[in-house]
Amino acid sequence: MDLDRALAEEMSRWEAAGLRRVLSPASAPRDGGDFTSNDYHGLSVHPAVIDAAREALAEGGAGGRASRLLGGGTRLEGELEELAADWLGSEAALFFPSGYQANLGLLTALAGPGDALLSDELNHSSLIDGARLSRARVRTFRHKDVEELDRLLEGAAAARRRLVVTESVFSMDGDLAPLEKMHELCEARDAWLVVDEAHAAGLLGPEGSGAWGALGRPRDSAPRLAARVITGGKALGVCGAVVCGSRALREHLLNRARQLMYTTASSPAVVAAFSASIELLRGGEIEIELPLERARALAEALDLPRPAAGIVPLVLGAEEAAMAAERELASQGFSVRAVRPPTIPPGTSRLRIVCHAYNRTADVARLAAILVDVRGRLPRALGAAPEPARVRRAPALVVAGTDSGIGKTVISALLLRTARRLGPGRYWKPVQTGDDSDTAEVARLAELPPGELPPPAFHFALPASPHEAAAAEGAAVSIDSLEGELERLRREQPDAPLLVELAGGLQVPLTPDFTQIDWLARLRLPLVLVARSGLGTLNHTLLSLEALRARHLDPLALFLVGPPHPSNRETLRRLGGVEAVLQLPELEPPGAAAFDRWLDAQDLGAVLDALAPEP
Ligand code: PMP
Repeated sequence: MDLDRALAEEMSRWEAAGLRRVLSPASAPRDGGDFTSNDYHGLSVHPAVIDAAREALAEGGAGGRASRLLGGGTRLEGELEELAADWLGSEAALFFPSGYQANLGLLTALAGPGDALLSDELNHSSLIDGARLSRARVRTFRHKDVEELDRLLEGAAAARRRLVVTESVFSMDGDLAPLEKMHELCEARDAWLVVDEAHAAGLLGPEGSGAWGALGRPRDSAPRLAARVITGGKALGVCGAVVCGSRALREHLLNRARQLMYTTASSPAVVAAFSASIELLRGGEIEIELPLERARALAEALDLPRPAAGIVPLVLGAEEAAMAAERELASQGFSVRAVRPPTIPPGTSRLRIVCHAYNRTADVARLAAILVDVRGRLPRALGAAPEPARVRRAPALVVAGTDSGIGKTVISALLLRTARRLGPGRYWKPVQTGDDSDTAEVARLAELPPGELPPPAFHFALPASPHEAAAAEGAAVSIDSLEGELERLRREQPDAPLLVELAGGLQVPLTPDFTQIDWLARLRLPLVLVARSGLGTLNHTLLSLEALRARHLDPLALFLVGPPHPSNRETLRRLGGVEAVLQLPELEPPGAAAFDRWLDAQDLGAVLDALAPEP
């Protein structure tokens, strides 16, 4: 009961935010009013596709019966893979039961700790999840921004392998990635390109071979194209996916992609239908360009940018505006779906209009007329969220550690000195335990008058972990108060970067059931990690990095404090995947001059960027 109640409460908050989803199977699929499904050509009901599926069912049965590696599936997968490779001009292909699994399997098999994965910020969730699961260092670049991608690639030069991951036609925005330019950057920066063709295959290029196919580049002119993912659930009208690439890639995935190894083979009906759809696209009977033509006509009527394939996004902003538009269209016989966060960024809720070959010209014209009316009326009638007044906050950088007593305070002081070379800067210790005052120590080391830095939100006398020290005084740390104070400090002086030093190591509890790393995962602020230099450094540091990465936190730099070790820096760079590993030796004599000499010799690139105030 308690679980059900907790879930219901969570759902009512979700609903209040306009985010609740319900299942609503299309009642009248594939008629002229359907602007929702991804079945762009209606191939899911094409007689040749259905016949192929029926035949395969009769011959091979309904199920896949086991993982393909344990004898599941039939000869049909092999035939499909050969057909797909030939269609796409690649050396080989490998079939997966879904596009989601294909993306997870591909990215986790190709990238791991020590690799860099560069991902367009609007990539599909399956690519995001695959990137996270890979445990590679993940960096997102602004949508289609090749200049930023180039900078990130340059910064990832030390990684073992660099993968650039993009959709070709973006599933929520309907626009096209600059594939040629991205491939060029991959050539220049020793990186590999992975392209998800879910919304381009069957719609663009000769025989519908996708956006890459449309470039008309022979295989040997694309040496840095590692893989293309073609999903069967969109224009092919079926489900499943093929990953196309080299023979070596296929072999690697077969042995390493867990999403293939540990799942039951698809139904023979699916595999045969997939092949039949490819044959149809290659046979010349399907008018491949029709969905694109419909989409272009609709976009023109709505004065929207020219879509790259079949998707036209109409951004309405507030969740409720998009939902009300969906309801209104439904009442007029059109199925168009609203898309809301977290599928897309907050404030960009939209109608995602998918155009099909079976939407007639008259359907498109009528839909456009209704949408012009809806667009003019809805946002105002609903009081769509006004643009929030922009609040300026100081950048905040967290100084976290692998342990206590390892030099976080010294590093905080050094970073404060660095910040204050450029302008104002502050330091804050949210929770202080014991008699010492790290705030006073930082002020001393940074040569600031005592009292200039804000005091801790909580101070307990017992030198122990915050939860224990608080309990000893009959008190408790309140995470809400910590966050309130953090927000207040950041707003109070938006031009003064704030360094936030945690208490002890990452897994130290703030309350009996909430640790500092839990708080970091919630704050999602940039951070640096401090570790002791000496025996045991590698294990503590690599475990801490793994715990951070498991929460999708990636330190900007790692500071090793203590007597330098000949190879730790290099080992941590390689195995920990942190590019900036800085070593702070004992400074002799300690003091401001030695601090400044050390700082002058460091390359603090990403850390400095994180300390730059918003314009
Ligand atoms: N990639 C993209 C770009 C997609 O839009 C989708 C489906 N929404 C997928 C991958 C996942 O494919 P599947 O539905 O076959 O799991």
